[in-house]
Amino acid sequence: MAQRLHLVRRYLKTFLLWELVAGLAETGRHLFARKITVQYPEEKTPQSPRFRGLHALRRYPNGEERCIACKLCEAVCPAVCITIESEQRSDGTRRTTRYDIDLFKCVYCGFCEEACPVDAVVLTRVFEFHFESRGNQVIDKEGLLAVGDRMESGIAADRAADARYR
Ligand code: SF4
Ligand code: SF4
Repeated sequence: MAQRLHLVRRYLKTFLLWELVAGLAETGRHLFARKITVQYPEEKTPQSPRFRGLHALRRYPNGEERCIACKLCEAVCPAVCITIESEQRSDGTRRTTRYDIDLFKCVYCGFCEEACPVDAVVLTRVFEFHFESRGNQVIDKEGLLAVGDRMESGIAADRAADARYR
């Protein structure tokens, strides 16, 4: 009996073009609803303080590099896209002599910034960047520090906001 009812219902649905009517009703519901299309690049969606975009290396307020060349970020990176070389300075501290990130290999997972004990490498909110020639995708230490210098106030504000939710 139940099977017969099911067959009748299916037959009626097919005969009345039910799927088509349901589809048109769905379209009609959205026809006059408020549009949510974002007119990028004039309009942009809100970003989280945890947004993971272009990398940066940060400095302390006195201008000293934060990075102590511990290589934890290099070790944790799943894409093996960080290359670090280091040496001891005359004052006995250790600093990087090379810090490259291959942005083509990077998967923007954020493990490097999570692993960093001194908050040196961070992923900024910058997501609009491009490369004009082969090899430019490898951003070096000077480039990373320049991004950090340019964005320090925003980075510090984002990290303070993030800390409030932890
Ligand atoms: S974001 Fe992830 S993939 Fe990219 S450099 Fe950091 S650890 Fe590596
Ligand atoms: S960025 Fe942080 S984790 Fe990476 S080498 Fe420097 S101090 Fe270590």
